[in-house]
Amino acid sequence: MRKKMTSEQKALFIIFGGTGDLAQRKLYPSLFNLYKQGYLKEHFAVVGTARRPWNDERYQEIVRNSISGMEVTAKQANEFSSHFYYQAHNVNDTDHYETLRKLADELDGKYELEGNRVFYLAMSPQFFSTICQHVKTQGLVTENGYNRVVIEKPFGHDVKSATELNESINQYFPEKDVYRIDHYLGKEMIQSIPALRFSNNIFNALWNYRYIDNIQITLSEALGVEERAGYYENAGALRDMVQNHILQTVAMLTMNAPTMYTDQDIRKEKISALKALRVYDKNGVKQNFVRGQYGPGNGQVGYREENQVAPDSQTETFVAGRIFVDNMNMAGVPIYIRTGKRLTKKETRIDVVFKNAPYNIFGSEPLKQNILSFKVGPNPGMELRLNGKEVNFDQYRIQSMHLRHSHGENTQSKMPVGYEKLLYDVLQGDSASFSHWEEVYYSWRFVDAVRQAWDEEKLSQDEFQNYTCGSMGPQAAKELLKEDGNKWYFRPDEN
Ligand code: NAP
Repeated sequence: MRKKMTSEQKALFIIFGGTGDLAQRKLYPSLFNLYKQGYLKEHFAVVGTARRPWNDERYQEIVRNSISGMEVTAKQANEFSSHFYYQAHNVNDTDHYETLRKLADELDGKYELEGNRVFYLAMSPQFFSTICQHVKTQGLVTENGYNRVVIEKPFGHDVKSATELNESINQYFPEKDVYRIDHYLGKEMIQSIPALRFSNNIFNALWNYRYIDNIQITLSEALGVEERAGYYENAGALRDMVQNHILQTVAMLTMNAPTMYTDQDIRKEKISALKALRVYDKNGVKQNFVRGQYGPGNGQVGYREENQVAPDSQTETFVAGRIFVDNMNMAGVPIYIRTGKRLTKKETRIDVVFKNAPYNIFGSEPLKQNILSFKVGPNPGMELRLNGKEVNFDQYRIQSMHLRHSHGENTQSKMPVGYEKLLYDVLQGDSASFSHWEEVYYSWRFVDAVRQAWDEEKLSQDEFQNYTCGSMGPQAAKELLKEDGNKWYFRPDEN
């Protein structure tokens, strides 16, 4: 059983990139929620740093603005924001870390923080290594408390760069103090996977190649690249979504039961699952992966017509794939994944498709497979498709039934928003919902093989722009399942 943090926590947060989008949209509201619940109270302070020449007053106003849409009184907003301090700072400038250290020490004394520090790197990855180095060498790391570094995605762009980054960070922070964010792991329904798998014997007993026919993971987005085109052109859907969110989800679905539900045991099993990913050669990539790029349609421009996108861009905005985790339990079970932009509907879901009963005693009409669906968002819930008796008395017929559970409004209002759970876990020193280096390594190893095969084969204009805005991706993504006699269970484009 993991212990629950019940009392006020003492900590200094130093947020690098304190003026940025992530800090304002996600971090300050999440910190405020922890404040409202009493996990942060008197003994905490936040230093925001970035190059902009703001002062404390301006920064506190920004913080108040970022929580203004929440349930908050003026008194709460003022009290909360009074714990925020701003330090203009260029992360490449060594001298500035000296100023930062003095401020950190002063706040440590003022708020009695007992040397506990969280360094949140909400900045472009090119700065991760420099910041870690300076934080350590300029004496911002304390002796008396904990020193945890939270690192945003992306963690490298392939095995080589991720390894270099990791080695560089590990010179200054040991693995146990590095919290690599994958915000999907903070989502309630992703967190629910182990509960459903390991606390119900009906699923625990069936969760293997004997009973599971296939697993389908969909992370579909209705929007295009919007203002992120500059970043996206260099990343693409494979690096942006598959390497992290999708493979972390695969690990949660295919790992063996941890000995106990502790961060160390969970990570051990997740690492094993990701290590068991079947890495494809060039031919394997061709047979098992599909890439796509949205073309114009439904009143939207195609990807290549977007701002900051090359007219002959080879960046994929859609990926579908057939993945195998070659371990004793899941060997041979196809895991179909897909993610893309400008698809029919925004939805994240997992459909676990079970094999049919071995024999149909009810006659000629084929039975439908049992499907367990985790609806991750936008409306979190679960669904189980069963076969049951149709209500009538003249014929005994089987029909599909759906057991649905969605959290009520009251429960939904208690669900942690955004980064709240992740920040809570950092304070608690619980790293289960963060990616361990080895998980990152094995994910990149898998993704690199796909990327390399694709990079060697340039696609023509006709071959790309192969799905229309508002569809569920290229036809080839449907064919991928058809080859195995399967089809996507979630087909919003056909409704
Ligand atoms: P952003 O809005 O561009 O913010 C970048 C921050 O870095 C700004 O505060 C900027 O402030 C600061 N900065 C840039 N160069 C600096 C320098 N040399 N010295 C000091 N500060 C500097 O980016 P973001 O969207 O917040 O993203 C931050 C990180 O979170 C990235 O790794 C991103 O991939 C990740 N992320 C973001 C989101 C999101 O929703 N935004 C979601 C997932 C992951 P100044 O210009 O004032 O220096």
